[in-house]
Amino acid sequence: MSSIARNIHQIEQQLPENTKLIAVTKTKPTAVLQETYDAGFRRFGENKVQEMTEKYNLLPKDIEWHMIGHLQSNKVKYMAPYVSIVHSVDSFKLLNEINKEAKKNDRVIPCLLQIFIAQEETKFGLSEQEAIEILSAPELSDLTNIKIAGLMGMASNTDDRTKIRSEFHNLKNLFESCKKFNSSNVEMTELSMGMSGDYAIAAEEGSTLIRVGSAIFGSR
Ligand SMILES: *Cc1c(COP(=O)(O)O)cnc(C)c1O
Repeated sequence: MSSIARNIHQIEQQLPENTKLIAVTKTKPTAVLQETYDAGFRRFGENKVQEMTEKYNLLPKDIEWHMIGHLQSNKVKYMAPYVSIVHSVDSFKLLNEINKEAKKNDRVIPCLLQIFIAQEETKFGLSEQEAIEILSAPELSDLTNIKIAGLMGMASNTDDRTKIRSEFHNLKNLFESCKKFNSSNVEMTELSMGMSGDYAIAAEEGSTLIRVGSAIFGSR
């Protein structure tokens, strides 16, 4: 077994049944993705539209592509034909754009609202209040080619496990309370939280999707 396959296997073994692993392949060459694919893995995460699209074009078509990075509206059209889910929606404007491009492709694209949970200035995302404003906007029901499938967040980059746990715990609480907004195009089922350094805590706190790069592929 290759080290990639071994790492994936080891991580998956620790996860509860309802937590799925996304292999974050950003910056890795296509050959590494092919090797991961050949080991039987199909769920890849990328943070740049252009890089993801180049890889999509070169690789087998049964891969699930997860967009996890900050998105500019003008890039949405390139991934709309094939992206499985967008984790990083941080404005109503972006949701509108994804809806428009999804419609052109006759698709419904699942989206997660990215919530700012870390006490750091550098991370993207919505405040709880902004997320609730999007979820309660009357215009949301017009966006029939997107579905809000849940929330995403990144914890503080710190060794303080208690702090990380508390940030994940707060996001899980928000996720649960957002279920009251479930409607024709809102269905809160996915909670995307946890990376190489903190996925075990995230899984304990109720994550359904963990996004792991360096613990599988080595440092970037
Ligand atoms: C890079 C990245 C990850 C994976 O980070 P690792 O620490 O390598 O596991 C997860 N989520 C997002 C949004 C990322 O950009």
